[in-house]
Amino acid sequence: MTTHDVVNPATEELVRTVDLATVDEADEAIARAVAAGPAWRALAPADRGRLLRRFADAVGEHVEELAQLEVANSGHTIGNARWEAANVRDVLAYYSAAPERNFGRQIPVAGGIDITFKEPLGVVGVIVPWNFPMPIAGWGFAPALAAGNTVVLKPAELTPLTALRIGELALEAGLPEGVFTVVPGKGSVVGARFVSSPSVRKVCFTGSTAVGQGIMRGAAEQVKRITLELGGKSANIVFADADVERAAATAPYGVFDNAGQDCCARSRILVQRSVLDTFLEHFEAAVKRVVVADPRDEATEMGPLVSAGQRERVCSYVESSDEPVDVAFRGGAPAGPGYWYPPTVVLPRSPADRVWQEEVFGPVVAVLPFEDEADAVAKANDTAYGLSGSIWTRDIGRALRVARGVEAGNLSVNSNSSVRYSTPFGGFKQSGLGRELGPDALDAFTDVKNVFISTE
Ligand code: NAD
Repeated sequence: MTTHDVVNPATEELVRTVDLATVDEADEAIARAVAAGPAWRALAPADRGRLLRRFADAVGEHVEELAQLEVANSGHTIGNARWEAANVRDVLAYYSAAPERNFGRQIPVAGGIDITFKEPLGVVGVIVPWNFPMPIAGWGFAPALAAGNTVVLKPAELTPLTALRIGELALEAGLPEGVFTVVPGKGSVVGARFVSSPSVRKVCFTGSTAVGQGIMRGAAEQVKRITLELGGKSANIVFADADVERAAATAPYGVFDNAGQDCCARSRILVQRSVLDTFLEHFEAAVKRVVVADPRDEATEMGPLVSAGQRERVCSYVESSDEPVDVAFRGGAPAGPGYWYPPTVVLPRSPADRVWQEEVFGPVVAVLPFEDEADAVAKANDTAYGLSGSIWTRDIGRALRVARGVEAGNLSVNSNSSVRYSTPFGGFKQSGLGRELGPDALDAFTDVKNVFISTE
């Protein structure tokens, strides 16, 4: 049997050893999901909604337990981890109203009546990355279940513990066996099986662009439905007419939250040249104020990276980079055990630098100046990614022009927040395909069926 040792990233101590599923075990879980499908989709919409509300309540009653588990498994700060567990509860509650509102349409036609139905797809495979194990799982399984699909979910190798607990809570809440099954395992084994198994009708994948591209290629074989939420290299654009002090004071939290292991991290900061010095002065003070410490401590704002491997990857962009990298200033980080890396601000020599172009997925942010609005939009768009971004300005016309000009799925003005479960989320360009969350999420987990009934 293959196993994975879950290690606490803040202490390097063993938390638990988890058995990893084989292909045969993945197939068994998929077969149980197939078997559970007909009864689940036939359940009266109000009853399916009621079960999802019970599931939400069960998660709600275990927010603290789930949060502590995430701190130990992923090194997330306790404040963040509580938000993440509560987000699963809230997303389940939000979509528990969806079964009774999964409307089709009645379309005027000659000679009869035409109506559409949104049919569930069958078994949905949800593949989750390690950076936000709970919320990203919920964004997939909650609307998928609401639409009448059954779900098999594969957590990331590094971070399976909260997903396994949520799987147990689903059963305790009364979801029938096989409706929602968590299958811990390797991406190349269980994840790949979700893609190749003809019984899985849709794969909802969040992770790196490289793996996402492989999933898209594999899904083509069966014209399998996919949603892809991939990498990002988002820009935080600060115009001279903005509240520069506020933009600088909040910028660390727009990129160093979750130690920068956030697909929406604003890891490129673009500042209008005339206010660059002022911005950097306030930004330096704010970066040095970020509390990097034991993630169990309530006051901690940033914890460790998830693994030794991830820390090496982050170092490869700064300390051990082949290109010269100018570090402007850094925050602090604890010494001793744990995969710590300090908040780091670099000044690229050109927009072609690797640290400006590639997703670092760690607490490293690069700052470059721009000249005017057109230059800001051009520089923001000079990337293969297009997930999120921020625009800081007091000019409402400019805010809207730039928001329309930046090729990204989720933008915020005078704010660095990206995600609300009631609004759509997803990427432009190589940041993804399809949208999650928001009022239309069930569209990604259903196929439209058109039925014409003759009245003649
Ligand atoms: P990853 O691509 O290495 O792994 C993601 C998941 O895919 C894991 O569960 C992994 O086991 C699985 N996987 C790996 N190989 C597979 C294969 N051949 N077939 C099927 N599944 C396979 O990504 P990661 O390192 O876990 O996560 C970090 C990446 O995720 C970053 O690039 C980040 O930007 C991205 N991300 C995107 C979003 C978003 O919503 N756009 C959100 C969070 C993270």
